[in-house]
Amino acid sequence: MRVTKPRIAILEALIKRDAPVSIEQLHQELDQRSCDLVTVYRCLAAFEDLGLVRRNFLHNGTALYEFMHASRPRHYHIVCKSCGRTETVDYFSVEGLERVLHERGYTQLSHIVEFFGVCPDCQKKLPDRNTAPAIPQAHV
Ligand SMILES: [Zn+2]
Repeated sequence: MRVTKPRIAILEALIKRDAPVSIEQLHQELDQRSCDLVTVYRCLAAFEDLGLVRRNFLHNGTALYEFMHASRPRHYHIVCKSCGRTETVDYFSVEGLERVLHERGYTQLSHIVEFFGVCPDCQKKLPDRNTAPAIPQAHV
């Protein structure tokens, strides 16, 4: 792979981030004169082939890309359904499940686990469903 200015910029932007990012978000952060959306898309596909980035999908089908930090332990993500904010979740209990599947004779196991929820900030903004008034009575 040739090392080009857009590729370096894209990789740097991915490394700086601590959360997965969509192609559109990444494109907006970059110098758009030197790097159009198609370039970003192609670069990310090339990085994925090289194992430099990992691709995930949101529940709505949006592809998110994340730099694979060699030093960083495996982790999951929790995505806010309201604002799209993504945070990492430590890798834990699924290890036990993989062990069970190994014992059942499966090899080359892999899995995708994504969590979705509403973040604390969005909960403050959203009307609380539990305390919302019931359907108003018609005035007679
Ligand atoms: Zn949120």
